Amino acid sequence: MPGACYFCGGKVNNGQDGVKCVGCPSWLHVQCLDKNGLLEERGGGIFSSGSLYGKCPNCGKEGSLDVNARMGDI
Ligand SMILES: [Zn+2]
Ligand SMILES: [Zn+2]
Repeated sequence: MPGACYFCGGKVNNGQDGVKCVGCPSWLHVQCLDKNGLLEERGGGIFSSGSLYGKCPNCGKEGSLDVNARMGDI
């Protein structure tokens, strides 16, 4: 079930262009997180090619952003 983005109110498709926070009911576009400075790319090491981390503007929960996972599912 898609939800409405916390920032822009637009439809968010989980795993496609956004995520649902695991700490609260907020839906977030990856692009909107980026625009608001809440997206961070952490460089990869031997075991990883790097991943995106986001922070929820509503509850402050931080987590990795994977296209197939919800925010916080690390
Ligand atoms: Zn948005
Ligand atoms: Zn949240």
